[in-house]
Amino acid sequence: MASATLMIDLDAIAANWRALDRLSANGTQTAAVVKADAYGLGAGRVVRALAEAGARRFFVALAQEAVVLRQALGPGPQISVLAGHMAGDSALIHDLDLTPMLNSVDQITRHFESLPGHPFGIQLDTGMNRLGLEAAEWAAVAGHVLAATPELVMSHLACGDDPGHPLNADQLAQFHYLTDGIAVPRSLAATAGIVLGPEYHFDLTRPGIGLYGGRPFDAALPVVALALPVIQCREVAAGETVGYGGGWTAEAPAVIATVAGGYADGLLRSLSNRAVLWDGDVPCPLVGRVSMDLITVDISHLPREPDRLDIIGPAQSVDDLADVAGTIGYEILTSLGARYRRDYRGGAA
Ligand SMILES: *Cc1c(COP(=O)(O)O)cnc(C)c1O
Repeated sequence: MASATLMIDLDAIAANWRALDRLSANGTQTAAVVKADAYGLGAGRVVRALAEAGARRFFVALAQEAVVLRQALGPGPQISVLAGHMAGDSALIHDLDLTPMLNSVDQITRHFESLPGHPFGIQLDTGMNRLGLEAAEWAAVAGHVLAATPELVMSHLACGDDPGHPLNADQLAQFHYLTDGIAVPRSLAATAGIVLGPEYHFDLTRPGIGLYGGRPFDAALPVVALALPVIQCREVAAGETVGYGGGWTAEAPAVIATVAGGYADGLLRSLSNRAVLWDGDVPCPLVGRVSMDLITVDISHLPREPDRLDIIGPAQSVDDLADVAGTIGYEILTSLGARYRRDYRGGAA
């Protein structure tokens, strides 16, 4: 096999959605966040598997991302746009029947003027200071906006992955203060908010990372596996160096495998001299620097030259690899390159 293969288990994604759906409070609907090409895993295939599992509402970051979704889903399922109604997007929002989450008074004006009567939602800022109307803005426009019956009023937690963080309770209280008594469905929780508990669930939850096997949904089934082909093996003598900058020096005679996969494939350069690859259950250290297309691995202790080595698999999850790289699973997943062959398991026929 010439190129690396990214194995994506669509049945595991569907099972994770069902498990998150069961975790959600009674009467809460579970949506699915599939922005950034379903966290790098291929939005078309992923949304078909999720729709098969029962998901009816999907979130993307940008209107353009919805093109693939609407093609895959057909008419019916709701596709919401977190960036809201941006200038230049009106035709796309209309033609694909998208539901923008309006984030500012400017966006509300643009939406009402360009697409009167077209579905929309509202995003409120409750303390993250990233997207959404501030409390004072909401107070000024709420009557006018609610008269046009939004599909959803939502906000987003800044520290949901840290259950003890005081901002969680602050944001929850602020969301109640801004929305109690309105006759519109409400949403506050992403994956982390589902794990925080039912008081965060409201009418709709919006899991992303948990669908793809990542923290903090600990019960998630693993979704991704990545095996990299070995291109060649060589012996190096004690004292010789390996790779750019002579980044690693053999202390004793060693056997080095050169493996197809580099930072252009999402193997972050911060993994240099730190990550471990696996031959089954035998760890093999990545030695030297990660280069654009290649990494080098010490296989001196293996009884034979392997055809491929695992970097994500049973012995090392996406989050494990993220820990080694000093980042989060989200960044590893969305960095995994377009150069891999994607091999889907399960899912809709
Ligand atoms: C990305 C995102 C989500 C999904 O978050 P996860 O942590 O991946 O579950 C939900 N809501 C908003 C507003 C987001 O930006």
